[in-house]
This record gives sequence, C-alpha cells and structure tokens, in this order.
Amino acid sequence: MAKRKLRLLKRGGPIIGICEGCLARFKSGFTGSIAAEAEIRVRFAAHKCLHARQIAAKMHADMHKVA
Ligand SMILES: [Zn+2]
Repeated sequence: MAKRKLRLLKRGGPIIGICEGCLARFKSGFTGSIAAEAEIRVRFAAHKCLHARQIAAKMHADMHKVA
C-alpha cells in the first residue's frame, strides 16, 4: 500500500489539506491556523484512499482489456 502524504496549502486564506495519494481535500471549520491544521491532520489520518484504490482497480481492469 502506498504511503499517504498530507499537503497543507496556506495561501492567506483558510488552510486546506490535500492527500497526495488520492487528492482528497480536507478543510477545517476553525479559523485559527493551529487548530485548523490539527483538525485537518485528524481528518487526513482517519480517511481511506478509496479514490486512489478505485483508480488503481480501473487501471488494472484496463490493463487486462489491452492484454
Ligand atoms: Zn487519500
């Protein structure tokens, strides 16, 4: 299983977390950057890269189609 990485975007606005594994986005309702980052990290840790798994499964199916 691929390692999941969390990317945090802080562009002056609210912090957004993005999973580099499946590109899932995580937002927080907190306005404070420390609390927001903490909430995003918790959500990231709890999520499962379902989207990435679906892509992998589709690629696998396509490979069989070609071969
Ligand atoms: Zn993910």
